[in-house]
Amino acid sequence: MRIVKTKADLRSALAEVRRDGLTIGLVPTMGALHEGHRSLLEAARGDCDVVVLSLFVNPAQFAPGEDLDRYPQSFERDAEIATAAAVDLLYAPPVGEVYPEGFSTYVAVEGLTDVLCGDPSSRGAEHFRGVTTVVAKLLSTVGPDIVYFGQKDGQQAVVIRRMVADLDFPVRVEVQPTVREPDGLAMSSRNAYLDPHERARATGLRRALLAAESTAALGRPTADAIEAARSVLSDAGIEPEYLEARDAIALRPVEIFNGVPVLVAVAARFGGARLIDNVLIEPIRAGDADGR
Ligand code: AMP
Repeated sequence: MRIVKTKADLRSALAEVRRDGLTIGLVPTMGALHEGHRSLLEAARGDCDVVVLSLFVNPAQFAPGEDLDRYPQSFERDAEIATAAAVDLLYAPPVGEVYPEGFSTYVAVEGLTDVLCGDPSSRGAEHFRGVTTVVAKLLSTVGPDIVYFGQKDGQQAVVIRRMVADLDFPVRVEVQPTVREPDGLAMSSRNAYLDPHERARATGLRRALLAAESTAALGRPTADAIEAARSVLSDAGIEPEYLEARDAIALRPVEIFNGVPVLVAVAARFGGARLIDNVLIEPIRAGDADGR
């Protein structure tokens, strides 16, 4: 595995690859790698000739007062995981390489980014502006055939798909299922912030989403599913930052589970950790609701 820290080195390493007509897969991450990231690398390894992993804790997607300063960093360990996952190229640029002096161009996806995590009462649209800007830059420097994201960050996946379509990036976006701990908690670099008590309570997120999913399977409206999820959260002592059902393409509120895939998404704080999770509920097929 080759480690590169500059755009120039990255481009020259990839020029050769492109000359040889090989396919490139890109997995963008902020490091502190876990099984969720590994599943993306595995998918990329299976699909592509060359796998590029980017490690960059992107300041542009953190609001003032968020956890940028304490976000877990473990470069040596990440490099070992990347080597074991047969990554070809590890791109780990310093901040000045991505945002040099005078940087002033941002990519913002409108509409989809001011709800859920983008609501002003949550992280705000600026968060997504940071994400789309850095992903646009990575797509432009790496020029991958396929780029991999996790369903864990469901809204992010929706926003990236929109950006790729709107800006005509010649790349396929692959979204991989959420990888979970045995007790259902979605893997996240931020789980490291949880104390044992918070860690136990956080499993309520998954249980709440499963309650929403089984309510949907009964053919009930989204309001009932949200109600069922909210009651599980409340039993677990979790006050959500948001808990909503929205269509999984335009992120508009939906009333029934039919016609379009529905994203039921939740965010909540556990001490110093803000965690998110979601479930994607496909339209109910005729006959499913009454068990036939
Ligand atoms: P992050 O390093 O947290 O920015 O995540 C980098 C990529 O890994 C994003 O596309 C995430 O959606 C994805 N990811 C993070 N956690 C998981 C997980 N538990 N399962 C699947 N993908 C994940």
